[in-house]
Order: sequence, then C-alpha cells, then structure tokens
Amino acid sequence: MSNELNLNGVGMTSQRTRDRLVQRLRDQGIMDERILDVVTSTPRHAFIDEALAHRAYEDIALPIGFNQTISQPYIVARMTEVLLGGGPLGRVLEIGTGSGYQAAVLAQLVDRVYTVERISGLLEKAVSRFRLLGLRNIQYKHADGGLGWPERGPYDGIIITASPRRIPDELIAQLTEGGRMVVPLGHGDQQQLTMITNSADGVISEVLEAVKFVPLMGGKA
Ligand code: SAH
Repeated sequence: MSNELNLNGVGMTSQRTRDRLVQRLRDQGIMDERILDVVTSTPRHAFIDEALAHRAYEDIALPIGFNQTISQPYIVARMTEVLLGGGPLGRVLEIGTGSGYQAAVLAQLVDRVYTVERISGLLEKAVSRFRLLGLRNIQYKHADGGLGWPERGPYDGIIITASPRRIPDELIAQLTEGGRMVVPLGHGDQQQLTMITNSADGVISEVLEAVKFVPLMGGKA
C-alpha cells in the first residue's frame, strides 16, 4: 500500500458494519484482497454529508449535492479491480472527483492519482477530505475533464466516473502503451461499463456490464 490513512478525528463505524459491506462485495464477485482491505479501512461516511452518513456502509449510491452522487461501493470496487487487473499502476487519472471517495480508494493502491472535477463546491470538499485523511499522493484540478489532463500524462490507468456518450479519443491519447481506461459508456439507461486497452496493436474495447452513472458534462459529452 502506498499510503496510510490518518483516521484521527474521523470517527469509525463498527468493524461489523464494514465487514458486512465487504462480504457483500465478495458475494458480488470482487476477489482482489487489496481492494477489499482498502474498502474496509476507508471511512466512506467521511465522504457523505452527516445527514446521510448512517447509510454510508450500505451498497448504494448516495446524493452528494449539485445533483451528483457518490458511487455504489460495488461499482467503485469493480472499476478499481478492472484498472488494477493489468498489473501495478503508477499514475492514474480520474475524471469526476465528486465526493473524492473513488480517488481516496485508488490513492491507497497506486503511486499517484490525478483527479479532475468541474464543480468547485464538490472539489473543495473532496480536497479537505484528502487532507483530513493524510492522503498526499492525489493532485487535483478544477476543470472540464472531457479533455483529460494532458500536462500530467501519460497515465497507466484512466477512470471516468461520469458517463460519456462515446469513447473519448482525447483521453485514449493520454494512456501509456498497455494502459487501461474504465468508462461507463452510453447515456440514460443504456450504459455499459467498458474497458479500453491501449495495446501495441491498437485500441481494444471490451464491454463488462450494465451500469448507471450521471452524465459526463461539457462540450465532449
Ligand atoms: N468518483 C465520484 C463519483 C462522482 S459522480 C465519487 O467517488 O464520489 C460524477 C462526477 O463527475 C460529478 O461530481 C460531476 O460533477 C463530475 N463531472 C461530470 N462531468 C464532468 C466533466 N466534464 N469534467 C469533470 N468532472 C465532471
């Protein structure tokens, strides 16, 4: 693990509550123990407004304001598992910081996370959570992430946590050779979690499962 969480001042729910969530992820087929460990140790309640914090360890998406949601833990674990499936990752780009939970999970499993969010009110809160938890390997930017963050690339992994209608070519260009992107492709009820690999022989796209994300906004959505 490349980062130890500072849990002082966060308050922790019972081990039993967190174990129940992890068991549910196992039941749904998440097998990577490193990811299950990180889900167990990451305080999801710290990424949600207090009024909803009592639901933080249920396997559901929850509202975070501005019409956005923190993703369901199963989806966070699944997307992380897909990204890590190709081997250890150095640099990972996330489009759609939202609450910061997915970035915080990734930061404990890869060297560096770069995350982009277009709503400053969400980004500010996420950044204060990274600070509170002592996560120092996350860089962030307030911007439309539709064009990625080319200045910091190329990336070994890219995760898009809002749904674009088509494969974003600008982002594929920011992958290393052999790099992977995981993206909920489509719109409305017609979204497929898709893994895109930038292989030496060309771009390979593999459909994984149906998902439901908020739309990726902006010119390229
Ligand atoms: N990864 C988040 C879930 C985010 S929900 C978490 O763990 O909580 C999707 C997020 O994508 C929202 O915060 C939304 O504002 C953001 N988003 C949508 N379109 C975007 C764009 N073009 N650029 C950057 N962020 C975008």
